[in-house]
Amino acid sequence: MLESTKIVEVKNLVKNYGSFCAVKNVSFDVYEGDVFGFLGPNGAGKSTTIRTILSLIKATSGHIKIFDKELNTNRNSILSKIGCIVEKPDFYKFLSAEKNLEVFARISGANVSKTKIHELIEFVGLKGREKDRINGFSHGMKQRLGIAQTLIHNPDLIILDEPTTGLDPQGIIDIRNLILQLKNKQHKTVILSSHILSEIELIANRMIIINKGETVVQGSVSELLNAQDLIVSFTVNDVEQAKQILAESRFTKDINSFSTSSILFHTSHEHIAQINKLLCANNILVNAIETKRKLEDYFLKLIAN
Ligand code: ADP
Repeated sequence: MLESTKIVEVKNLVKNYGSFCAVKNVSFDVYEGDVFGFLGPNGAGKSTTIRTILSLIKATSGHIKIFDKELNTNRNSILSKIGCIVEKPDFYKFLSAEKNLEVFARISGANVSKTKIHELIEFVGLKGREKDRINGFSHGMKQRLGIAQTLIHNPDLIILDEPTTGLDPQGIIDIRNLILQLKNKQHKTVILSSHILSEIELIANRMIIINKGETVVQGSVSELLNAQDLIVSFTVNDVEQAKQILAESRFTKDINSFSTSSILFHTSHEHIAQINKLLCANNILVNAIETKRKLEDYFLKLIAN
């Protein structure tokens, strides 16, 4: 199978703020058509990496290539093909959505027709509101208009730093659907940062998880999350008796720990039903079975710390 084109190549990126190392040797590639999830708890180094890619700050060391060109020596031509939201998008709040986009089009220097502006407004679901002033817009509407703004100069790569922060559930769904349309209908490559694994899982095909500036894991989202390793908790009426039964079974090696009411296994999907069957056949009442994927559990612990 042909490998698709590399759009972003980050190699051994390091960023120090004085003596503090915010990004430690991070490397990743983003391919054409990817929705690439950039995941990590607050303070992990996501924004720092994104700002470096956008040339807003300078890397301490490492290499960044975008569209197969060195960022350091081709800054302007590269940035002209990138659309981004790195902070809350800012608008002229007493102007309408349409006028705002017209102003941004002029600033970008791109030759943008009225038709294109109306198409963008429709794309982000603001048709009918284009003549309204921004100061009456909800946070979600502003984020969607921000996405229209990033598209004004028809960039190939879109970078969105935590675009769903502060949105209500419907706002989150709207942005998620827009990102999927960017990929599927507009064939854009998207880098999306988030501290919510489930959010990335729903839209990204590849991802990297970073923590304290270091790479934890990276690869295909489905492969990373649907790995066989599960953390399964069986809540039972008699842990002591269950322990004895399990000790004589082949599942003894899957047991991780016990509490007063439950047994925790590191096991695979296939074993869940079999463990349940064994316990039930020996008159143990299984009150609940909870499963978590190992990576999900690990990430939740990172966030909680
Ligand atoms: P994230 O986007 O994952 O929340 P950041 O990249 O914003 O993380 O921050 C990574 C680390 O770098 C944090 O510990 C943060 O406090 C620190 N940091 C970010 N910007 C600066 C700065 N300008 N000066 C010093 N430290 C910074």
